Amino acid sequence: MKKLLEMIERCDTISIVGHIKPDGDCIGSSLGMYNYIMDNYSGKRVDVYLEPIMEKFKFLKGAMDIINEPSELIYDLSISVDCSDTDRHGEFANIFKNAKNTICIDHHRSNLGFGDLYYCDPDASSACEVVSRFFDMEKISKPCAECLYMGIIHDTGVLKYSATSDETMFIVGKLIAKGIDTQFIIDETFYRVRYTQNRLTGKALMDSKLYMDGKVIASCIRDEDFEMFGSSKDDTDGIIDKLRVTEGIEVAILGYQNGENSFKFSLRSVSKVDVSVIAVELGGGGHIRASGVSIEGNYEESLDKILKMVEEQL
Ligand code: 5GP
Ligand code: MN
Repeated sequence: MKKLLEMIERCDTISIVGHIKPDGDCIGSSLGMYNYIMDNYSGKRVDVYLEPIMEKFKFLKGAMDIINEPSELIYDLSISVDCSDTDRHGEFANIFKNAKNTICIDHHRSNLGFGDLYYCDPDASSACEVVSRFFDMEKISKPCAECLYMGIIHDTGVLKYSATSDETMFIVGKLIAKGIDTQFIIDETFYRVRYTQNRLTGKALMDSKLYMDGKVIASCIRDEDFEMFGSSKDDTDGIIDKLRVTEGIEVAILGYQNGENSFKFSLRSVSKVDVSVIAVELGGGGHIRASGVSIEGNYEESLDKILKMVEEQL
């Protein structure tokens, strides 16, 4: 940890990168790191590179300065947060790869291990929790705390998933003590839904099917469903959580079309199945209870592959 702070101290130009399709934890950890460096180290240039983020995240300090286009700049240091492999940097892979020094901070079990300095805790609730460990709590500003708290809230499903530990709660307590508006962050960034999102969710729940004596639930969203409701991929947020809480379910699977002949699958388990093993085997990654993978081919065939692996574990 000391080495990481020394490296930040030494480097004048710093870039921060996350993963493609950035979620709350990715955005929170990127901007948390950005604000901490801006607040505590003078004379640094810090640039955050992420794909465009949803409107609801734009109240966070630094969100309006996020760069959405790749660049050829060579940074003294590039920090990767919440990203399990360099392929998932997407368009910004070169920014990380070309930097003179690199740091990887993460919490994915499937992390491949990269960067000059590498720190990954697969038992941590979120990248924001891991990032917070590096910081002096006294030096975290209110805007920085908003970013870190927001990310923890998202990756823990509002402090309820199994990776939520006493350390998570200790850090959350320290962040709340900065005077942040916790209810605003929870309601507006986590629970608020669009009308189109409600309708798409309704369709996905209607179409869901049970497998293996009701231990597994799966549903699918196709291009025509997105069109029917004027929805985008953003509207798939939260659907998997509704499938997961169905009575009797151990594994929930949601596939949505992300190409003519390709589906993105979200996998969740409740208490037994390690879905990260399944996702990794199919070319994806994630955590024991929450993973994802994109698979070429039609939905039925890909679902079949996943179901077979779930059955083996069950
Ligand atoms: P979600 O199902 O919400 O998209 O993702 C759940 C978890 O799995 C997240 O931690 C995410 O980073 C990871 N994940 C999702 N899709 C992929 C993928 O295609 N590749 C890898 N390596 N990880 C993924
Ligand atoms: Mn995360």
